Amino acid sequence: MTPLRGEHEAEVAVVGGGPVGLTAAIALATAGVPTALIAPAPKQADNRTTALLGGSVNALEAIGAWAGCRAQAAPLRTMRIVDDTDRLWRAPEVRFDAAEIGLEAFGWNVENRHLIEALGKRAAEMPGLLRIEDQARAVEIADADVTTRLAGGGALTVRLLVAADGSRSLCRTAAGIDTQSQNYPQTAVTFNLGHQRPHRDISTEFHTAHGPFTVVPLPGLRASLVWVVAPDKAGLIEKTEMLALEQEIERRSHSILGKIRLEPGGGVFPLRVETARRFAARRVALVGEAGHVMPPIGAQGLNLGLRDAATIAELVVAARRRGDDVGGGEVIDAYDQRRRADVTSRTVAVDLLNRTLLSDFLPTQSMRGLGLYLLDRIGPLRRAMMREGMASGAGQPRLMRGEAL
Ligand SMILES: Cc1cc2nc3c(=O)[nH]c(=O)nc-3n(C[C@H](O)[C@H](O)[C@H](O)COP(=O)(O)OP(=O)(O)OC[C@H]3O[C@@H](n4cnc5c(N)ncnc54)[C@H](O)[C@@H]3O)c2cc1C
Repeated sequence: MTPLRGEHEAEVAVVGGGPVGLTAAIALATAGVPTALIAPAPKQADNRTTALLGGSVNALEAIGAWAGCRAQAAPLRTMRIVDDTDRLWRAPEVRFDAAEIGLEAFGWNVENRHLIEALGKRAAEMPGLLRIEDQARAVEIADADVTTRLAGGGALTVRLLVAADGSRSLCRTAAGIDTQSQNYPQTAVTFNLGHQRPHRDISTEFHTAHGPFTVVPLPGLRASLVWVVAPDKAGLIEKTEMLALEQEIERRSHSILGKIRLEPGGGVFPLRVETARRFAARRVALVGEAGHVMPPIGAQGLNLGLRDAATIAELVVAARRRGDDVGGGEVIDAYDQRRRADVTSRTVAVDLLNRTLLSDFLPTQSMRGLGLYLLDRIGPLRRAMMREGMASGAGQPRLMRGEAL
């Protein structure tokens, strides 16, 4: 192979220091791949929380980051879906218990700021990981390498660029990858809250005619709320006085958690789906929201992003062991192919679930009711659904199975 040009020496550069970029960079460095992470220091705390499902915790454990946020995460042992639509065809309540499929918990809910802090600490411990606290300004792709020009001056040339620079990815544009996107007539309003009664590790999703109202446990007497509403309602919520809002949330959650106390720093996220037409091209692999944005329904977005990170790291390590180019066509095509089915099936499932909630069409509502009824009554179907939602099993990348690269 020709020697690398540029001021820094690395084979792979990861652009973006969100949870997915940090995970990809640590995974690569842990496996001995000379890696650079191009990421400015985080500006504001991310108040969102993430339900880490299935193999995500295994992957974080395998790269040595889970211990740093385990104490701030709450187990999700039971998930309830409650039809709160007032419609003619209302579905029965469905309960999924992790113990039914032999698990301690479906996953763990953690605030993104704790997750990012734990990943940041782990990244700082890795001698093989070059940290460049700067923004990528431009990306130039050649046949044998890819150069990232930095906002603060200087450049880095590597074999493969891992684009973890979020939904408005500069790297994706540079690689000429187009996206298809769609806006939903809904907005997610998020809060973290304190409450009076214990949540008993139960996550509850109330399905309303505008979308889900989901309360997910955090450690102690705390929980996170993702409340999907019509966009004009989101504007009203933002203007509502604190006490009235706490009372409305208590009413909508049917007082299952008793009195509610809102914590400062909620978020407002217009719902949309955006998917890249390819997940890799021309020495650039897209991970996380650079490749796919999903509505926060069914806790899939970041879990998919962590699977992206684990997959690209695995392919790069395998290519190096063979003595192949880590950014060559084989890695690029294999990555695109391996991520396509997973991302597409999750996007379709989340979209379908959301549409059946929004639909006023009676047959659609009755189909949804029937589906949930069958899930409630038929044990094997329910267990298969739980395993599917967790994306566990043999087809997963090694890190998600808790194995080293
Ligand atoms: C309300 C809500 C709730 C959610 N809940 C869940 C959940 O329960 N479970 C789940 O799995 N997912 C959930 N998601 C989705 C999840 O939050 C996202 O998938 C995840 O945050 C995406 O991480 P990322 O690292 O890909 O992108 P980001 O977090 O957007 O990180 C991108 C990073 O790239 C940096 N960057 C951008 N441009 C450049 C550049 N030119 N140079 C250098 N750096 C750059 C940015 O500064 C940023 O730090 C939720 C989303 C929302 C909106």
